[in-house]
This record gives sequence, structure tokens and C-alpha cells, in this order.
Amino acid sequence: MTTQEKLDILSRDAQYDLSCACGTKRPDEHRKRSLGGDSWLYPVTVTSGGTGIMLKTLLGNVCSNDCLYCPLRCQRDFKRVIMTPDELATFYMDFLRKRRLIGIFLSSGVMGSAERTMHDLVATAEILRKKYRYRGYIHLKIIPGASRPAIDAAMKYASAVSLNIETPGAQHFRRLTHKKDYHQDILEPLQYILSQTSREGTHPHVTTSSQFIVGASDETDKDILTYCNTLYGEMGMNRLYYSAYQRGLGDPSIPGEMVGEDVSDASFKGREQYEHYRQTRGGEFTQNWSSNATLFPELASLPARDDSLLVREHRLYQADWLMRIYKFSFADIQFSPDGNLDLTRDPKQIWADTHPEFYPVSVRKAPEQSLLRIPGIGPVYAKKIVMHRRNEGIYSLNSLPVPPTVLSKALPYIIL
Ligand code: SF4
Repeated sequence: MTTQEKLDILSRDAQYDLSCACGTKRPDEHRKRSLGGDSWLYPVTVTSGGTGIMLKTLLGNVCSNDCLYCPLRCQRDFKRVIMTPDELATFYMDFLRKRRLIGIFLSSGVMGSAERTMHDLVATAEILRKKYRYRGYIHLKIIPGASRPAIDAAMKYASAVSLNIETPGAQHFRRLTHKKDYHQDILEPLQYILSQTSREGTHPHVTTSSQFIVGASDETDKDILTYCNTLYGEMGMNRLYYSAYQRGLGDPSIPGEMVGEDVSDASFKGREQYEHYRQTRGGEFTQNWSSNATLFPELASLPARDDSLLVREHRLYQADWLMRIYKFSFADIQFSPDGNLDLTRDPKQIWADTHPEFYPVSVRKAPEQSLLRIPGIGPVYAKKIVMHRRNEGIYSLNSLPVPPTVLSKALPYIIL
């Protein structure tokens, strides 16, 4: 098998690990893929603006773990391949000569043990840095159960590291795996990573991220966002991702496979919003299902992907943005009695609807923080309004430096 054939398989499998801490502005960007037939390439938005292309792949799709939501789990029978560190590093550098890439995102199934897998991941990064003198972006996925020395070695070469937390707490985690231990394999390494990437740590320039899988277990949105609040607020996590469980690929015993929500109900108000969400993603899901039919034969008979989980993922991203960028507190996020976010409405809109005493907001006088509470106004427009009133003054609401669609949404909540 050629290196390219291996990479075709491994990068396709990497789609099940959708966390990609590469500075995407839009939370769904990390799902876009398959550029011009090169399924290992991902378009991403870089923090400095503009877009770039990243190579994302597994080093091996062999896995000795049994995560019941994961199609790569050890019980399943499909073609397993492994690349050597030198093979992947050489391929990447060759590819870089032909096409400009902004970096590499490298993950792997557990190839025998966490230590052996970490060794190969780190060796790939080491070859890139030392043999090829590569100075670009390297994201290394930390394998659950990795030792502190292995994590230290990864952070020596990586620009960013991540370890998926998967669920908010051990209770939900236990329903998804019999082999991994939540505290020992996930929380302890994650705490160590965050301590070492803090300002006082040994690798303050390495960024960190983690990911929740949404809907595989029986967690609520409140459970997830409670963890997020701690991870961002107390532990210094840079970025969290949410990945809707891909129903149909997991073990039938897990909660995510047992739930059957009727998403075809015409009264499902979130559907319209989801359609918009899906369009902004470029309709890549349909492509992914069919393109993987040979690797996972049962995909051909899978039901359509559950839209409600994708809307749920979208609402979690919105709540995450409110806490992380808009400086909403956890208490500002409102949940339904079942502990979940309302699928039919934006959490910021819900806050506005339930706090009439806060409005109208004066666009001439209100602090930037208050402008961020106006429906339709995000950080970019809040800053523009502040600059505009400082430099030119605001004499009518219609002269605000925002597009008409944003203005019409904001108008009921503002005064001069
Ligand atoms: S460790 Fe679990 S989630 Fe990761 S590849 Fe193996 S089975 Fe899948």
C-alpha cells in the first residue's frame, strides 16, 4: 500500500475526531473537508484572519480501546493501517513543497498502549522539527492515559495539544467505555497539560483544547456547560469543541443509540435554523457518509443523520461563545427543565427576552460589554459602534455601522 493510499484511509477515519484547535472563527469550520479529492486537507480560519489549509490525519487507525461510540473501537473489523513517523513526516514535507499548508493535526488510535502511541506521535513531530527544520504549526492529540514524560515530550515539539474529555464526568463516561478510566486516563493528564501550558508552566506558548462528544451518553447541556465553565474559568483551557454523536456507528447499548427522536416533526422549530447551519457547512455530511461506504459498509443503510443532535451541538457552541467571548456568566445561560438548551432559540435571544429591565441599551453611552447583550450585535459590531461614536458620533440609529439585517434585529433593544 502506498503512503498516499494509507493517508486516504487514515484521514477519512480522522473525521471521527472532529476537534481541531486551529483557530477557527466559525465553530463548524473544522468539519469542512475533502478539498479537491484530498480528504486529508482541512480548510481553517486562522486567528490572524483569512483562511489556510491544514493536513489532518491519524498515524494509525489501529486501536486497543473499546470506546462504544467510536467506529474505530477494537471490536470492529475493518482495514487497519499504520504509518511510521518517518513516512508521515516525509510525506508532509514533500506535500508542503507542492502546496502551502498552515500546519498538521496529528492524532491516532491507541496502537497497543498509550506510551507506544505517544512515542510515535512525538517522533513524527521530532522528525519534522529536527530533521526537516519545520517551524510551522503542529497539533498533537494526547492519547488518554499518557504519562507525564510523554506529555512533556509532546509539548516540546507541538504548537498545540488536545485531549478529548468526551463527557462531563465519570458517570456518563462509564456508559461509553469499559477500558478507560475517567480520572486516571482523562482528567489527570488534562490537568497536567493545563498546569504546564499555564503562564507559570513549562510550556506557556502551547495552546490547549478539548472536545465533548454530544449525545452519545445521557449527559445534559447543563452538565456539559458546567464543566466548560470550570475548564475555561478555573483551569485555563483555551478552547472547547462539541461534536454531535454520529448515531448508527456505536454499540447499540449506549444511550445515544437508544434514543429515537422524531426530527421529521414539522413543528420542530429549530429545523429552519439548522438548515441555515448546514448550508454554511457546505453540505459535507452527505459526502462523508457516501465516501466512507467502503470503509464502513453499514453506512449505506444508516438512517439520515439526526438533525436534533446537530442543532444541539450548534446551541452548545452558541452558549460557549456567550461565556467565552461575550463574557456572559454561567448563570446567564438558561436551560429547559430537562437541563438542556432550547433547540428552537438562540441562548442570547432567550436572555434578552427574559431581561426586559436591561433594555433599551443606549448606543451612545453604554459600555462595550452592554452592547454585546443586544441581539444581533457581536464583538466586531460592538467595537465598530464604540469606534464610530468616538470618532464621528452617533446621531441616528440608522447610521450605526452595522448591516441592515443586524440593525433590524437590534432596533427593538436600542436607543440613542
Ligand atoms: S481511544 Fe477510543 S475514541 Fe480513540 S480511536 Fe480508540 S476507540 Fe476510538
